[in-house]
Amino acid sequence: MDLAPIYKWVDDHKDECVEALRTVIRQPSCAAQDNGVKECAALLADMMKALGIDARVMPSDGQPYVFGHVVSKWGNKTLVVYNHYDVQPPDPISDWDYDPFAATVVGDKIIARGATDSKGNLMTHLLAVKAFREIYGDVPVNIKYLFDGEEEIGSPSIDKFVAENLDLLKADAGMSLDGGFEASGRPRIQFGSSGLLYIEVNTTGSTQGDLHSARARLAESAAWKAIWIAASMKDRDENILIEGFNDTVTGPTAEERKMLEETGWDDAKQLEELGVKRFLTGVTGVDAAVRLLYKPTCNVSGLVTGYGGPGSKTVLPSKAMLKVDFRLVPRQDPYDIFEKVKRHIDNLGIEGVTVRMLGAIPPSYAPLDSEI
Ligand SMILES: [Zn+2]
Repeated sequence: MDLAPIYKWVDDHKDECVEALRTVIRQPSCAAQDNGVKECAALLADMMKALGIDARVMPSDGQPYVFGHVVSKWGNKTLVVYNHYDVQPPDPISDWDYDPFAATVVGDKIIARGATDSKGNLMTHLLAVKAFREIYGDVPVNIKYLFDGEEEIGSPSIDKFVAENLDLLKADAGMSLDGGFEASGRPRIQFGSSGLLYIEVNTTGSTQGDLHSARARLAESAAWKAIWIAASMKDRDENILIEGFNDTVTGPTAEERKMLEETGWDDAKQLEELGVKRFLTGVTGVDAAVRLLYKPTCNVSGLVTGYGGPGSKTVLPSKAMLKVDFRLVPRQDPYDIFEKVKRHIDNLGIEGVTVRMLGAIPPSYAPLDSEI
């Protein structure tokens, strides 16, 4: 198939495509704050219908899914395309140079929350249908769209939703176009994606309310408990210390490592993109690429406790909250890891601790010789 006319269509219709994207960006859709997500789902479904895509909003236990279907006359294969229309909260707003939901055009970029992750990507799927139909009168494969409204909070409803709609979502292959581009501007094709486990740990001190810090000689601190728990999970050489956590971590196959070597990983470019002087643990070259793709993480996303206002307040905190996320690699099961994390925290023998799971996404993995 000759794609040159499709690329020309994109150039010729650039303004229209950019405006369609800006319309979606201007509708806030933060799942974490339950802000505008349902409105965004309705807006998307309307825009899909206007593009001639059979679309509907489907309720779930959480935020709604937007489902769309495009039937191809020539293609007999079906591609299911997953993406998300929710965005991360824009806070702290004061760090923004532009209103995060104004979709301000600056030079050749749109500066806004969700412009690349993932409303920009999502709109390319839909506008591609329009381009193919206008140039060739059809699309080359059947397409099923599944747009998630709570991806940024770990897709808590997706397991149940997919289980209840297996026939509807049946396909020959699946694709997700999420996140941004490499610093070089080259798109990146991944043969899988990281899994995620997100936990929240709450600790309490000896008393219901905060005490004066002089009492720290005799009463427990919720803050220290949270810090001890966080510090117990990883050492300063980046080793994750939770028993059994690394049991199924195998690293790349020889063939995968060879492909990574051939993709032209460039330390300088990657350092610049990340905005750092060196990679963690001092790793370089393909070893850095391997670390990026095949190493699980243990990341403190948040630690909230005590007094954080101006000046000083001598307080012994009675409550602390620790949020930790783990990026998981192929063959790590988030539910199994959760049990291991709970056991690890239990074994510390600290009283007044509760641990709960906020999100779990199993990693996915496709062999390099997959048809897709
Ligand atoms: Zn995303």
